[in-house]
Amino acid sequence: MNYIGTRGFHNHRTFAGALLDGLAPDGGLYVPQSWPSLDAAELATAAKGDYGVLTEKLLTLFGVDVLGAEAVKAAAAKTKAAFLRNGETPLTQVEDNLWILELWHGPTLAFKDMAMQMIAPLTDAALSQRGEKLTLVTATSGDTGAAAVRAFAGSAHVRLVVFHPLGRVSPVQRLQMTTVEADNVLNIGVEGDFDDCQRFVKQLLGEASLKETGLISSVNSINWGRLLGQVPYYLAAAAASGADHPEFVVPTGNFGDAFAGWAGRKIGANVGHLHAAVNSNDALSQAINTGRYVRHQATPTASVSMDVQAPSNFERLVFEASGREGAATKALFDTFAADGDVTLSADMQSALKAEVSASTVSEETTKKTIKHAYDAWGQVICPHTAVAVAAALERKSGKPIIALSTAHAAKFPEFVTEALGFAPEVPEAIQVLYGRKETITPIKNDYAAALAAVKGFVG
Ligand SMILES: *Cc1c(COP(=O)(O)O)cnc(C)c1O
Repeated sequence: MNYIGTRGFHNHRTFAGALLDGLAPDGGLYVPQSWPSLDAAELATAAKGDYGVLTEKLLTLFGVDVLGAEAVKAAAAKTKAAFLRNGETPLTQVEDNLWILELWHGPTLAFKDMAMQMIAPLTDAALSQRGEKLTLVTATSGDTGAAAVRAFAGSAHVRLVVFHPLGRVSPVQRLQMTTVEADNVLNIGVEGDFDDCQRFVKQLLGEASLKETGLISSVNSINWGRLLGQVPYYLAAAAASGADHPEFVVPTGNFGDAFAGWAGRKIGANVGHLHAAVNSNDALSQAINTGRYVRHQATPTASVSMDVQAPSNFERLVFEASGREGAATKALFDTFAADGDVTLSADMQSALKAEVSASTVSEETTKKTIKHAYDAWGQVICPHTAVAVAAALERKSGKPIIALSTAHAAKFPEFVTEALGFAPEVPEAIQVLYGRKETITPIKNDYAAALAAVKGFVG
């Protein structure tokens, strides 16, 4: 199994190549050269079994075994450890036909641990195979950076640079990134928003002067390895629910998590309809529902990790919906990059609608849903999860739905306290962070400053 790009790149890369590159050479994103399809019964059996074994099976199906069976095993074990709740699939049924899947039992209490714990050992394996060093540059609206810092701190082969929008990530998210003491980690705070950080990362990845210092890549969800780490839990959750092709409602920012679910369905797993729930930063839901994809300034919301106006993985969906037309995909995203405004063809819009649906959830509804989840089910949920649960409640009509819960409520205590009238219980993993020394390099919202900071770090 090899990989091609969404904008016409057809010289296949192995999984290791796609993992280390991040972006494809055509400026697009890597996707499998063709989607493997497995026997549905075989997949169903694997989904009911051990999560580590299921993960190994999927990783092998997608060509991760180029890194050796040992690396696949180690990666699967890491992601399994971040997934299980008391040794079991963390699925809770809250109503007839409605479940919540908790994806935050890893070290930073958010679902990004699932993929990041998995790709850190894979990245180390790929680098030691090649005898190379790698600089990872990553933009974060909070959770990605924290999960990356925890997963990569102390790695022998990787230097990690994380850009976050200053003052726009929650204090807990910030502490999880900035209190880790590791020589191979640099935290940069940008006086801008998440999309500015993401733009810097894209630009840095193409920076010739940095390539002289070694490999450079990203662990944002543009990276195929990240997405792959998020496929197994769709299968495990569907199996644990006992439902036939349950719908998944996914709280969505960059559309990475939702696309992983789409991939699960594509390979023939017991995954039904996919619905992307977004907050008021709703470029994605507008594109799917109105046919116009427009970039706006991001508005800060309580579900801060979803404050994204140019969702990077939308490109993978467009590529697939276009019938895998690299030229059409490139034209659409070139126009979007230049004008920030693209009108989709009627064919494209209906092809997208056939793959996923999307809806927007307001701050007010998010808050009411946090209260409802507690009053009705005794569940304390975070704002991201509440966006998904609100959309799921709206879509319920007798069909089975699994809503993804992507972070622990205590990562976002202010909003949850406003909604509930009391503060969420703070787990030990968060309590220990307060009072630790923080290290941040602040910069202006300016690419030259970003480049200088990275150069100073990598030497
Ligand atoms: C990143 C994140 C999301 C959004 O996931 P995408 O893959 O970017 O769509 C949702 N909830 C939480 C808590 C997150 O950290």
